[in-house]
Amino acid sequence: MKILFAASECAPFIKTGGLADVVGALPKALVQKGVDARVILPKYSAIPEQYRAGMKRVAEGALLFGIETVPYAIDSYELSGVTFYFVDCPDYFDVHAIYGDGLAEGFRFAFFSRAVIECLEEIGFVPDILHLNDWQTGLVPALLKTQYQQDTKRRQIRTVYSIHNLRYQGIFDWDRLNTRLGLDGHLFTPDYIEFYGMLSCMKAGIVFADRISTVSPNYAEEIRTPYYGEQLDGVLNRRADVLSGILNGIDTESYDPANDPAIAKHFDVRRRRKKADCKKALQNEMHLPERPEVPVISMITRLTSQKGLDLLECVLEDMLRMDIQMVFLGSGEQHYVDIIEEARRKHPDRVACYIGFNEPLSRRIYAGSDLFLMPSQFEPCGLSQLISLRYGTIPIVRETGGLKDSIHAYNQYTDEGNGFSFANYNAHEMLYCTEQAVKWFYDDKPMWDRLTVRALKCDFGWSASADKYIDLYRGLIGR
Ligand code: ADP
Repeated sequence: MKILFAASECAPFIKTGGLADVVGALPKALVQKGVDARVILPKYSAIPEQYRAGMKRVAEGALLFGIETVPYAIDSYELSGVTFYFVDCPDYFDVHAIYGDGLAEGFRFAFFSRAVIECLEEIGFVPDILHLNDWQTGLVPALLKTQYQQDTKRRQIRTVYSIHNLRYQGIFDWDRLNTRLGLDGHLFTPDYIEFYGMLSCMKAGIVFADRISTVSPNYAEEIRTPYYGEQLDGVLNRRADVLSGILNGIDTESYDPANDPAIAKHFDVRRRRKKADCKKALQNEMHLPERPEVPVISMITRLTSQKGLDLLECVLEDMLRMDIQMVFLGSGEQHYVDIIEEARRKHPDRVACYIGFNEPLSRRIYAGSDLFLMPSQFEPCGLSQLISLRYGTIPIVRETGGLKDSIHAYNQYTDEGNGFSFANYNAHEMLYCTEQAVKWFYDDKPMWDRLTVRALKCDFGWSASADKYIDLYRGLIGR
């Protein structure tokens, strides 16, 4: 079985969020199960030199993009048994930030989508299935199904389209983007890829892919409702027979408290007392008083409303009435940056923050915290709560999307559960839930130790989910 993943980001080469973690880890898990899974990405200028230096040129070509013929090259790089291909075309991928520059972003990923389809023979890998991810590659199924049906090889390729976050849809002016794509005008209708007068790359993926998957079973249900459907619930319901949800895993080799080079002391279930050393190191690094007895509650997140930051805004002062320390790592909307920085100014002995993206620091925070707060408004899967558990840090989550699939609230009567949770998107529910968690932390050390052991023993590796993807692929190609 030959699978080619196409995505806009992939750890460790380039990462802005959970998509990169998934594309970095799932192909590796598939390869370990005997699937020939490979990955294709844009070769951004931001990819670190340590990887660029090890890339080999494997193909060169040119493609027609609008009225222009654009030359490109393909480089490859091997890592953990997986072949990664990089589409090299500085005109589109020499960028300061990979997202957020309007129509240029549309052209960037339209070009990438075209290149993914065009380069297959040159790289000598025509897959059985192209596995596309999020809007940046949503045009691939649409192009394949409309412009490549006379091509004997490409006509055979099946597509799986994974939705990692339905909110980001890649919406562009049809006329301007289509000058480069040449799609037939009849596609610009509500049944196909028109979305309120614009072209939607997300909708293109949903309408044309052979199978659609999302990153948790619960989110697969939620997005068929108006509340979570981002105005695409109608088309998702129309395609419900090919829509499924498979929970993401994490790369347990990379996120491993027993081996992680970024953290102060290594620990596992047996050596779990060493987690206290990581907490002490974190308090020092973040200039918080070194107080082992106080619970450290952390958030590592993109600073957007999706992540429940407006709830935090409502009750942050109430939370800080408890004897706790809070550590924030994030980047994003200035409004939330201001709130966090203001809290740090007012409570320098309780609040610490790092505004920006810092992968090694994120690991030290996961390792050194007691609780991890993730009160998302919606959460397709969420990886941070899984990474927290892996480092013995107990999540507090809102029961939505993948958070609901992965975190089970502590039940004091049966002594079951791996975290704390609340149901409604309500600041006072979040506050109450956090207060309860803090109370358990202070009042019942044996219970907390059992909870920590359970967290450290949770298995959120990719193996089980990789099997589910293999079943999905088998169902699609009939073998
Ligand atoms: P999303 O993909 O919606 O941002 P996820 O929970 O699925 O959320 O994945 C977020 C990933 O990005 C996790 O690996 C998390 O540790 C990481 N991350 C988020 N913000 C930062 C940051 N500021 N610095 C370092 N890592 C971050």
